[in-house]
Amino acid sequence: ENGQRRNSQGYNLAVEFEREPLLADVQQFSKTHWSFEPIINGKKVKEATQETHIIHSPYDHEQVVGELHWATAEHAKQALECADQAWFEWNQTPVIERAACLDRTADLLEQHTAELIALCTREAGKTLQDGIDEIREAVDFCRYYAQQARQEMASPTLLPGPTGESNEHYYAGRGTFLCISPWNFPLAIFLGQISAALVTGNCVLAKPAEQTSLIAGRTIELMHEAGIPGNVLHFLPGAGATIGDALLSDERLVGIVFTGSTATAKHINMTLAQRDGAIPTFIAETGGQNAMIVDSTSLPEQVVADVMDSAFSSAGQRCSALRVLYVQDDIADRVIELITGALQRFVVGNPELYATDCGPVIDSRAQLGLLTHCEHWQAQGKLLAQALNHDDLAKGFYVLPTMIAIDSISELKKEEFGPILHICRFEADELDQVINDINQTGYGLTLGIHSRNEVTAAYIESRVRVGNCYVNRNQVGAVVGVQPFGGQGLSGTGPKAGGPNYLKRFATERVRTINT
Ligand code: GLU
Repeated sequence: ENGQRRNSQGYNLAVEFEREPLLADVQQFSKTHWSFEPIINGKKVKEATQETHIIHSPYDHEQVVGELHWATAEHAKQALECADQAWFEWNQTPVIERAACLDRTADLLEQHTAELIALCTREAGKTLQDGIDEIREAVDFCRYYAQQARQEMASPTLLPGPTGESNEHYYAGRGTFLCISPWNFPLAIFLGQISAALVTGNCVLAKPAEQTSLIAGRTIELMHEAGIPGNVLHFLPGAGATIGDALLSDERLVGIVFTGSTATAKHINMTLAQRDGAIPTFIAETGGQNAMIVDSTSLPEQVVADVMDSAFSSAGQRCSALRVLYVQDDIADRVIELITGALQRFVVGNPELYATDCGPVIDSRAQLGLLTHCEHWQAQGKLLAQALNHDDLAKGFYVLPTMIAIDSISELKKEEFGPILHICRFEADELDQVINDINQTGYGLTLGIHSRNEVTAAYIESRVRVGNCYVNRNQVGAVVGVQPFGGQGLSGTGPKAGGPNYLKRFATERVRTINT
């Protein structure tokens, strides 16, 4: 393999002859009723004791998307038992064969693009563009990890040693991993975690977010179709507490990959610390309190395009999203005026429509938290601007993109996961204070910088502790193999997803020494 892997190209929705056929294909799934249940040892499990949930679309309370039959604690234990038995053989399966399963999964995802976009839109409320990006990222994860495994893990590395002795270093799977994934990237992150664990020789128990388990179920079906054995990959939709309680204390679980809130990551870590036996691998990718610093040398027009994208695309429901914009006082009025204008043109509405910029948030809980946050600042006279109410938004969990004035990032007490931008002014001589306040949050995921002064940009970058720093562009949409993604501090343990060191954390290193 010559290392010439290319990321997938997706679709360009601005081009009518690309957009219209795709929309027509997606439309075919507008009435589909999906139904999923746990899949254990390759078999769908439906029993009278299971909780059944009817899934409604977040943008239309009356639209039924499908139904889900949750896994019980007993199912979780059966799946672990089965995976534990299957591990030895899967770990012996050549890397080339395991990687081929990921490549076939990527092909199947591309073949089922229309259905997967429909699921992303109808179950998760994603816009068409977000649906396309989601599938591209999932495809890229599969092919990237497949290639990396082939290049770095397919054969042992010979090490020097004395005459009469051979020394080899190689990677092997650890055992069974539990992959707990978030609803905001129901396909890409779900599949990124699972594919990394599988290709390195581990079995997987996949626990998707409760809100997006239909997309997950369809993905598991495709992975089985691509050749991942049923006893190696199990699907456990259900309540986090039920599945977690059943599995986390069991020593046979050797690794946990989690993407979600910092609070849940800490809870998992505490549970793992208390269990008997070996200390498992724990990979967590959690929230961010992300800032952008804009100095007076930057171009307001360029800043505003990047701010709109970073704060409001995907309804702000990315952990990378911009939460607090620091603008140097000299240009702050102009930047605020331009954002206010852009918000007035921002289309909030039905995510199925091409013209929509921002769909709903994921559920009523998220909506209530965000609306309460806006009301709190509005009561203090700090609400600067809001997008217009264009559509019949009462039908779904909508939150209008909003700009709020604050004095410092330290005023935000918790992560706000939605389309809300906070803006702070600062004077040139306050830059160190701004940097200090950002570091004081303890989070460290993304940082945006806008400055035409390279020295200032480098100064800021070297002092703010974050995983991904973006200069003179937006700060969302990390691309597999191009911007390996992940943070530090309260934002996660590393390693970065889509980066050179991710797979190695799933594998164990072994050395074979033979006296020849
Ligand atoms: N990788 C995504 C991005 O760069 C964010 C992932 C997440 O929200 O968990 O925007």
